[in-house]
Amino acid sequence: MPIYEYVCEACGQEFERIARFSEADQSPICPACGSKETHKQISRVATGSTGSSGDSSSTSCSGGGHFS
Ligand SMILES: [Zn+2]
Repeated sequence: MPIYEYVCEACGQEFERIARFSEADQSPICPACGSKETHKQISRVATGSTGSSGDSSSTSCSGGGHFS
């Protein structure tokens, strides 16, 4: 099952949650403050690669006409 990353809008807590596809649309309850004002983070980064500016994989799925 995929792991989704969520962020709490109430307290800013970031947490991960393993969810099925049908559950991914639902907002989980924040484990820190119990708020349901959470949303899924779209930009998934590999664990341990925070701060790196290598975005080589972001241009690989849309035609790729940047190479002359
Ligand atoms: Zn919270």
